[in-house]
Amino acid sequence: MASRVDNLQVAQIFGEIADLLEIKGENGFKIRAYRSGADTIKAWGDPVALMDETQLRALPGIGKDLAAKIRELAGTGVCGYHAELLQEFPPTILDLLRLQGVGPKTVAVLYGSLNIRTVEELADAARSGRLRELKGMGPKKEALILKAIEERQKDAGRHLLADTAAIAGELIAYLEERAPGVDFTPVGSVRRGCETCGDIDILASGPYASLGTGASTSLMEVFVAYPHVERILGQGDTKSSVRLRGGFQADLRLVPPGSRGAAMQYFTGSKAHNILLRDRAIHQGFKLNEYGLFRTTDNVKVAGQTEESIYETLGLAWVDPSLRENRGEIEAAAEGRLPHLVAASDIRGDLHMHTTASDGRDDIDAMAAAAARRGYQYIAITDHSKALAMANGLDEERALAHAAAVRARNGRFGNLTLLAGIECDILPDGRLDLADDCLAQLDIVIASIHSHFAQDETQMTDRILRALENPWVDVLAHPTARLLLKREPIRMQMDAVMAAAGRHGVALEINCQVDVSRGVARLDLNDAHARLAHERGVMLVISTDAHSAGALANMQWGLQVARRAWTTPASVLNTKSLEELRPLLRRTRRAA
Ligand SMILES: [Zn+2]
Ligand SMILES: [Zn+2]
Repeated sequence: MASRVDNLQVAQIFGEIADLLEIKGENGFKIRAYRSGADTIKAWGDPVALMDETQLRALPGIGKDLAAKIRELAGTGVCGYHAELLQEFPPTILDLLRLQGVGPKTVAVLYGSLNIRTVEELADAARSGRLRELKGMGPKKEALILKAIEERQKDAGRHLLADTAAIAGELIAYLEERAPGVDFTPVGSVRRGCETCGDIDILASGPYASLGTGASTSLMEVFVAYPHVERILGQGDTKSSVRLRGGFQADLRLVPPGSRGAAMQYFTGSKAHNILLRDRAIHQGFKLNEYGLFRTTDNVKVAGQTEESIYETLGLAWVDPSLRENRGEIEAAAEGRLPHLVAASDIRGDLHMHTTASDGRDDIDAMAAAAARRGYQYIAITDHSKALAMANGLDEERALAHAAAVRARNGRFGNLTLLAGIECDILPDGRLDLADDCLAQLDIVIASIHSHFAQDETQMTDRILRALENPWVDVLAHPTARLLLKREPIRMQMDAVMAAAGRHGVALEINCQVDVSRGVARLDLNDAHARLAHERGVMLVISTDAHSAGALANMQWGLQVARRAWTTPASVLNTKSLEELRPLLRRTRRAA
C-alpha cells in the first residue's frame, strides 16, 4: 500500500501538536510525549505509515495513543486531533514559532495578551514598544525579536528557481491529473525565470463543465487536499492559498477563459513592468486589469483572452516573460526591436565540466555519452587544477595525461568532439595555478577563483586582471564566485574586469551550476552583469560546470539567466559550431 505520509510529515505533525499544546498551556507530560515521539519517528529508517500497531508500540516513546494517531495518518492522511487543535488558533500562529528565540510559551503570551497572530503584527508591536511590558519580556527581548524578524525577512521566503519550478511542476502535475481539460499555468517570478522566487502562483482556466456542477469549489478542494500541503492559509471559490512543506506558499487562482491572457499578464508581473503597461493603456484610452483591457469611454472589453491581444492592442510586440522587469522592454516592444533571445535549441556544446579525475562523480565516457545524447557537437572536460587539493586537482603532469585520455576518446561518441581543458585556479596574487607551457598544450583553459574570497576590492580586481593577462586563459568562470542565498559575491570592479575581458578576448561565463539537494546555485554572472557584458561586446559562454552526467541538464538555468540578460545567440560562444568556435577562442586568435 502506498502511503500518503512519510516519516517527516508524521514527525512534523506531532511536533506541531506539542507546540499547540504548549501554547494552550497544557501539562508538560503530554507535550513531552509528542516531542519525543516526533524525534523517534524522524530518526526511524523505515516508513512508520507501513507499520502495524504492535510494531509501532515497540518503538521507543510510542505508546498506544501515538500509535493510533500514526495509524490514522497512514490511513486518511490527516490527524483529527491535530486539526482540532489548529481550529483553536489562527493558522498563521505557527509562523511565529519559526522565529529565532520565540518558543511556544512566548507565543502563548503574545497571543493571549496582545492577540498577535502574524509575524507582521508581531513586528508592529515590537516597533511600537508594546512587547516590553509583557510578562517575561523587557526591552532586550523585544529588540531580539525585532532582529529575528528582520533577519528572516532579508531572505524571507526566497527559494532557488530550480527548486521552486520543481515544486510548482509537481503540484501542477497533481492538479492536471485530477482536473483534466483545465489549463494550469505557473505565473509570477517562476514564469519570469527569476533566480530566486517567492510564492508559487498558479492560474487555472478552461472548460469547467468537465469538472461538473460546482466545479470551482471542487477544484479548490482538490488543491487544498494536495498531500504536501502543510497548512491551508485561505480557501475560496476562485482563490486559495496553502503553505507547502519546505516553506513554499502556493496560490491557485481560477479565471474565466475570456480573461486568461489578462490574468496571465497581470499575475506574471513584474510590478514595475505592469505599472508601465497600465500607464500606456491609460494614455491610449484604455483601462487594464486582471480581467482584461477595457475601452475607457464605454467600458467595452477589447482584449484579454490572450496576452498577445493585450500587447498588440497597445501597439506592442508580445514581450517574453523573462524581459518583463522595466529594463527598457516596453520601449523596445513599441519600436519593434526586442531581441531574438537565445534558446535551448541554439546550444551546441558545453565548455565546463568535471570528471572523476578531480571532483566529478562520472568518468569521461559517462559525461561524453550524456553530451552525445543531448545532441551536442562538442564538450570540454575541465577538471580542477592542483590548488584545489580537496577536489584532487591536477598538477601539470596529470593534466597533460588527462588531456591525452580525453582526446583519445574522440570518434567514440558519434560526431561529438571532446576538447581537453582545465579549470585552472587563480592564485591569491593573480598567477595561474599551472605553468604556461602546460596551459598552452590544452584546447581550452577556464580560469576561476575558489579561495581567498575576502580580499578587498583593489586586491581582488588586480588579481583577476592579472589572470586575464595570461595569454592562455580563454574563459573567466563563475566571475563573482557567489552562491545564491549562501555566499555574497566577491568585491571587485566589474567594469574593469569586463573591459579587460573585452580587450583580451576572454569570454565571461554564465555558470549554471545548481544542486537543489544541497541548496547550492551559482548562476554567475547574474542577469544584470551578463547584459552589461554583451552590450559591451564581451563574449558570453553558458556552461553547466557539471559534476555528474545528469547535471548537464542544468543548461536550462543558465539559459534563463541569459534570456533575462537580453542575450542573443550571436553573443554566446557555445551556440557556435565547432568550426566557428575554434577561431573565437583567444588562444587561436593569438596564434593567427
Ligand atoms: Zn569552479
Ligand atoms: Zn568547475
